[in-house]
Amino acid sequence: MSPRDYDVTVIGGGLHGLSAALHLARAGRRVVVLEKSWVGRHASGATAAGVRTLGRDLAEVPVSLEAMEMWHRIGGIVDGDCGFHAHGQIRVAEFEEQMPALLQRAETMRKLGYQHEEIIDRAELQRLVPALSKHCFGALIVRTDGAADPHKTLAAFRRSCEAAGVTIIEGCGVEVIERRGANWLVRCSGERCFSAPVVVNAAGAWAGKLASLFGDEIELGYKASMMIATERLEPLLEPVVSVVGRALSFKQAGQGTLVIGGGLQGSADLDAQRSFVNFTELAKGARAATDLFPAVRDVRIARSWAGMEAKTRDLVPVVGPSPNAPGVFHAFGFSGHGFQLVPVVGAIICDLVVKGGTSRQISGFKPERLMASRQAA
Ligand SMILES: Cc1cc2nc3c(=O)[nH]c(=O)nc-3n(C[C@H](O)[C@H](O)[C@H](O)COP(=O)(O)OP(=O)(O)OC[C@H]3O[C@@H](n4cnc5c(N)ncnc54)[C@H](O)[C@@H]3O)c2cc1C
Repeated sequence: MSPRDYDVTVIGGGLHGLSAALHLARAGRRVVVLEKSWVGRHASGATAAGVRTLGRDLAEVPVSLEAMEMWHRIGGIVDGDCGFHAHGQIRVAEFEEQMPALLQRAETMRKLGYQHEEIIDRAELQRLVPALSKHCFGALIVRTDGAADPHKTLAAFRRSCEAAGVTIIEGCGVEVIERRGANWLVRCSGERCFSAPVVVNAAGAWAGKLASLFGDEIELGYKASMMIATERLEPLLEPVVSVVGRALSFKQAGQGTLVIGGGLQGSADLDAQRSFVNFTELAKGARAATDLFPAVRDVRIARSWAGMEAKTRDLVPVVGPSPNAPGVFHAFGFSGHGFQLVPVVGAIICDLVVKGGTSRQISGFKPERLMASRQAA
């Protein structure tokens, strides 16, 4: 392989790697995506695929809103509709004493000039989600949020990448990185070797390990979020529902299965690339689901799983140039809510590579914020 064959090496074939590759290829760059297992093997294939601006950290709100605008025209960005539907996302307060926190959030957003988060009362909540237990008091809603289908999304991004000329190589785990002149020489298992002046680190749960190969010691944990999918039901609800004080996210997929998550944690072995369901914890999610939706008490669970991804201390991602390695850009640490950001983060990485900067607000995503404490230690 000639060292000049590619302009950009993307490490990681999850949705963020694919999105970066797609935007870069459309900007005229020759891009190779190197994926250790197969496209979508980890978080991007395990995700609940909620498309949520609701309740975002303030540092994420501007890019999350732009991402949402992109989701509403996703069929014009990639080859497929990604199964996206904008039926809204609702954060429910079961009890009156939980409302002040939601009111405070709505007020904070309004003062910052954002109008998308809206308080609704019990009557509107019941109108929107008749299956919800009648004891629920009120909610915060973003009516234009929604959810997508993770597998349709992966397929659409992959097809679009390939149509734009991106080379995707699966079963190619990056093990060694060396500087060769102006290029980064990237060696995979099986002695395969790739060279390019630019590297995008989109290696998900393993991105911290990759970053350290470039001299960036970034403090990073991981999540092993669990999900439940049930047997198929008749239509029960359209919006995605989460609940204050409970680890519950509840929605119905297009084919009728209930998809229940909300951040309950299993465990993971990063070296073995495996994650494990903790059934005792998972039972809490099932209990929360039946408390909030009494009609699902006798519904059968068809499948449960856990998926791994990197988690930062502040739960805000790392998106930006490496402070130590020229031509290296990081995009990871999405901390359980990176699916919604996929279309815009690819565009941001493209800006950084092609224009050397971006007008989008990413100052809160700098890798340096997670490096200082280690350097000081
Ligand atoms: C159960 C679950 C539910 C979720 N629900 C939501 C949700 O409702 N809404 C939302 O917005 N987000 C959600 N998320 C988060 C979202 O799915 C992730 O933020 C997003 O998919 C991360 O994509 P990624 O490309 O960064 O990572 P990944 O999809 O994990 O991709 C990283 C890839 O890098 C590869 N890799 C690692 N090391 C190497 C190496 N050395 N060489 C080559 N390749 C390597 C891995 O094999 C992997 O395929 C959820 C996540 C999980 C796990």
